[in-house]
Amino acid sequence: MPDIIVEIAVPVSVQKTFHYLAPEDMRGSLSVGSRLLVPFGSRRVTGTVVGFPDKAGRAGLKKVIEVLGDPLSPGLMKLARWMSDYYLHPLGLSIETMVPRALGTARVRTTRFLQMRSGDHDVNLIRGPKQSELLFLLCDRQVVPFDELGGYASTTIKALVDRGMAEIVEKAIEQSPDEQLFVPDRPPDLMPEQAEAVRSISGTAAAGTFEVFLLHGVTGSGKTEVYLHCIAALAGTGKGAIVLVPEIALTPQLLGRFRRRFGGRVAVLHSGLTDRERADEYRRISGGLVDVAIGARSAVFAPFPKLGLVVVDEEHENSYKQDDGLRYHARDVAVVRAKFQDAVCVLGSATPSLESYYNAKAGKYRYVRIANRVDHRPMPGVSIIDVRTQPRESVYAPALIAAVQQRLEKKEQSLLLLNRRGFSSVLICGDCGKAIQCPSCSVSLTFHKSERKLKCHYCDFHRLPPDRCPVCSGVNVKPLGTGTQKVEEEVAALFPNARIARMDSDNTRGRDAHDRLLGRVDRGEVDILLGTQMIAKGHDFPAVTLVGAVDADVGLNLPDFRSAEKTFQLITQAAGRAGRGDAAGEVIIQTMNPGHYSLRHSMTHDYDGFYGEEIAYRTELGYPPVRRVVKIEVKSSQEKTAADAAKVAKDRVRFLLKGKETTLLGPAPSPVARVRGKYRFQMLLLSSKRETLRMLAIEARKAVEDKYGRTVQVIVDVDPLNLM
Ligand code: ADP
Ligand code: ZN
Repeated sequence: MPDIIVEIAVPVSVQKTFHYLAPEDMRGSLSVGSRLLVPFGSRRVTGTVVGFPDKAGRAGLKKVIEVLGDPLSPGLMKLARWMSDYYLHPLGLSIETMVPRALGTARVRTTRFLQMRSGDHDVNLIRGPKQSELLFLLCDRQVVPFDELGGYASTTIKALVDRGMAEIVEKAIEQSPDEQLFVPDRPPDLMPEQAEAVRSISGTAAAGTFEVFLLHGVTGSGKTEVYLHCIAALAGTGKGAIVLVPEIALTPQLLGRFRRRFGGRVAVLHSGLTDRERADEYRRISGGLVDVAIGARSAVFAPFPKLGLVVVDEEHENSYKQDDGLRYHARDVAVVRAKFQDAVCVLGSATPSLESYYNAKAGKYRYVRIANRVDHRPMPGVSIIDVRTQPRESVYAPALIAAVQQRLEKKEQSLLLLNRRGFSSVLICGDCGKAIQCPSCSVSLTFHKSERKLKCHYCDFHRLPPDRCPVCSGVNVKPLGTGTQKVEEEVAALFPNARIARMDSDNTRGRDAHDRLLGRVDRGEVDILLGTQMIAKGHDFPAVTLVGAVDADVGLNLPDFRSAEKTFQLITQAAGRAGRGDAAGEVIIQTMNPGHYSLRHSMTHDYDGFYGEEIAYRTELGYPPVRRVVKIEVKSSQEKTAADAAKVAKDRVRFLLKGKETTLLGPAPSPVARVRGKYRFQMLLLSSKRETLRMLAIEARKAVEDKYGRTVQVIVDVDPLNLM
């Protein structure tokens, strides 16, 4: 018997696949999606079968070493191809992004499953009700662990296997890493708007037709409860549900809600898992042991053989976009995955991204609105303080201080937010006015007081604060700006009797620290909670009745066309933390831009008003969502090489551009012109035609690679969010 030729995608950064030989006796265990160990150069790598070419040369082909477990389903393979094509990223690397690293290498406990064989089956071969019942169950679930087949005699199972309808497979399975006891809760009766949302979403999901819903519900409107009901409605259909949440929202609070509803049939995927734990969760999903997978970005690849629902909560969050490697946006991938698997996708937010709202208006997505909070709790009142008219001694204006004082007297909690990361003070020289910079990243270093260190937030560089300015040798080096630690000191001085807790990404990096802090807030052991908006998003603090924000608008100064949208979202979400319990909430915003439309409309909770002004601006300049953008970034350790290579890319684009309705911006040094010792230049291509952008990006990349080979790196970012 001759060997078979298999076409394999390997995880290396070339835009092509490779042919290998597999012995004939492997044929039975090979299909598109099979994972194979193959030699590649001097290494062994895990590749994935993408096809079986019938006409191909055999000469010089290397042999497959071994078939590994856990083949990828047809749905995921289709998704991988789509991503590779859409994001212009090698197929092998796109597949690697979907699969946990430890899969196929770790040694794991195995369990037996009965699995449906694909193909048409002759139902006439079935004898008796038990056999047809089992076949029906398999059609529904595709794979069923033997543990759950207690009701069937081994002869019944054998009958299906003998007739080629099912097969017995060994799959590796582990217990969920944090299986705990949970007391089931009773789902609340839905409010009318919630019930209506559940009706339309579940109806479509039951029909098994693809559709995207934009669930636009104000903060505290009970969106999570809508998801829970829709997932519960899927139970018994054998279809799984994926729930994507921003990493920071993956709290025990939220997981508890899912566990109380769905017990042990929940898989959790978050960045705190070890590779091994992640692989175990992955196998519980593909093995049919769970109904719901909940996790951050990469959970969009949860390997449910059959999928009913994909929820993207807080769909406007930037963290859904991966910023290196395969630069995918999990929200967009969720939509495509749902489409490929005839599932329903629900995008939920109180502040939808311009993109999603635009799609809803265009009729591409179905729009479902929840305008009222649960139990008709009022929206918090929002007031704005113009800090330019306030005394300068304190970070906080007198009106905000008085409001906090009132809360202390009434034994209610206040949340004070600062729009900065960590204790992110910059050290500046009082003589020349220059901030102290990272030698390799051209961004200001930030001063971390507790360690007395200056750190770069792009690379790992750190140093002691200098006595003299590195630029002019002046001795007057001092901190600029306010960080959470400085604010903490000030708040402690203003409210000496209050119990104060600080929550930012530096002091709550460990999950446990974060959870403990939230627990203290829940139990009412904290009067004033200080933190950055980044951290406070998505949490439910029932006893918080006041939210105060300083510097909420610093983001407006960033060189990014989405800065107004981000500011509107930030303030609306922060305001959403107030008054989620029984007492009404109040929000006070300090700003230097009181007239800006992003602030005006967040004051009145007027999303449509904001959208109207923002979309007018985007339309005028041809920015997304009106047109599409691709960013091309060129990097080199030599500044001149990077600049020259960027010009090569530009010339190629200019040449091809003639007569096309496409705009080219740049190339220019990136706002952060140097990262990890590499000089960066970027250009933006804008067009309403995706195909045009695709072609231009491929050609520009090729032009640079042809001329510079590996000395220059070209990164193509489709639908970029980060323009820094
Ligand atoms: P969102 O996700 O829109 O912010 P949640 O689903 O978290 O809102 O709901 C906010 C709060 O209201 C939660 O404490 C939740 O348990 C509660 N809640 C949601 N729906 C109902 C309902 N129909 N009846 C009573 N309480 C509800
Ligand atoms: Zn740096």
